[in-house]
Amino acid sequence: MEKVVIIGSGPAGLTAAIYTARAALEPLVVAGLQPGGQLTTTSIVENWPGSGPEGIDGNELMQKMRAQAEHMGARFHEGRVIKVERNGSGSLTVHFDEGQIQTKTILIATGASAITLPLPAKDKLMGYGLSTCAVCDGFFYRGKKVAVVGGGDSAMEESHYLAKLAAEVTLIHRRDAFRASKTMQERVVANPKIRIIYNTEVVDTRADAQGLTGIVMTNFVTKETSELPVDGLFMAIGHIPNTSFVRGLVDMDEKGYIFVKDGTYTNVPGIFAAGDVEDQLYRQAITASGRGCQAALQVERFIDGIGH
Ligand code: FAD
Ligand code: NAP
Repeated sequence: MEKVVIIGSGPAGLTAAIYTARAALEPLVVAGLQPGGQLTTTSIVENWPGSGPEGIDGNELMQKMRAQAEHMGARFHEGRVIKVERNGSGSLTVHFDEGQIQTKTILIATGASAITLPLPAKDKLMGYGLSTCAVCDGFFYRGKKVAVVGGGDSAMEESHYLAKLAAEVTLIHRRDAFRASKTMQERVVANPKIRIIYNTEVVDTRADAQGLTGIVMTNFVTKETSELPVDGLFMAIGHIPNTSFVRGLVDMDEKGYIFVKDGTYTNVPGIFAAGDVEDQLYRQAITASGRGCQAALQVERFIDGIGH
C-alpha cells in the first residue's frame, strides 16, 4: 500500500513530490507521457523567481526539479494512469497501462494538453506542417514561411520564437483583440517579422506529398476566404485538462477542470488536485508549484488524520 501516488510530473507534481518526500511519505510519481510537463515545450522561462536575470531553460528547470525530488527520495513510474477506483475500505486503486497499485491518497497533477483546430487533414499533417509546439518543431522551419493561430500568451511566445528562425511569421487571431498579457502583446506587435491578421479563422489546409503548403482562411467581418502559402502552421489555441481517467469519480466542470475546495481537496476523500488541472485562471509554473506545495501539506495532514 502506497501512502501517496502523485499523478503527473510537471511543476505541481514535482513540487508535491519534493514536499511529500521530505515528509517521509515516500511518494510514487507517475510521470505520464510528457515527463516534466508543459514547460519542457518552451525555451527560456523568464518569470521563475530565483533563476536570475537571464531566466532558465524550461527543460533544464524541470530536470532540476525532478533531480531534487529524486534526491529527497521520490520514486518514479514511467507510464500513465488510465483509471482510478475507490475501494470499500477507503483505499484507492490506480490503474496503469499495465498493472495497478493501491494507495491511501492520490494527488492529481496532470495539467492540460494542447487543443488543435478541427482541420480536415489534421491527422495526416501533424508533424508534416502542423504543430502545437514551436520550440519542438521550429528548427524545421528555418528560412521558411509559417503561421501561428491564437491570441493568448502561447501564441505570442510561439510567434516571437518562430520569428527568430522563419523567414515570415503570420499570426492569425479570431478576434480583433488579443487576450495575452500586455508585455507579450507589445513584443509581438513591435516585431517587424510578424504580420498580424485579426478576425480570421483557419478553415482548411493545402498540401503536397511532402506536407503542408498553405492554409485557407475566412475573415469573420468581410466573410471573404483567402489562401496563404505557408510551410508550417502552429496551433497555440489553449489546452484541455487531462482528467478523463477520473471522470465520473471526481467532480469537475464541463471542460474537465477538477473542482477543489478548502485548498486542494476534491469531493473524494484522499484525492487531491493541484496545478493547471484545477486552475483555469492563473496557469503558471509558479502557481502550479504553489498548489503542489499546498496539496502535499494537505496530503500529510490527511494521512495524519487531521483535516478532511
Ligand atoms: P503540466 O506541466 O501540464 O504537467 C502535467 C503532467 O501530467 C505531465 O508530466 C504529464 O505527463 C502528466 N500526465 C498527464 N496525464 C497523465 C496521466 N493520465 N497519467 C500520468 N501522468 C499524466 N508558465 C510560466 O510560469 N512561465 C512561462 O514562461 C511559461 N511558458 C509556457 C510556455 C508554453 C508553450 C506553455 C504551453 C505553457 C507555459 N507556461 C508558463 C505555463 C506552465 O507551463 C504551466 O502552467 C505549468 O506547466 C502547469 O504545471 P502542472 O504541473 O499543473 O501541469
Ligand atoms: P489561452 O490563454 O486560453 O488562449 C487561447 C487563445 O486561442 C485565445 O486567444 C483564443 O481566442 C484562441 N482560440 C481558442 N480556440 C480557438 C479556435 N478554435 N480557433 C481559433 N482560436 C482559438 O491559452 P494559452 O495562450 O495557451 O495560455 C494558457 C496559459 O499559459 C495562460 O494562463 C498563459 O498566461 C500561460 N502562458 C504563460 C506564458 C508566459 O508567461 N511566458 C507563456 C505561454 C502561456 P479568444 O481570445 O477569442 O478566446
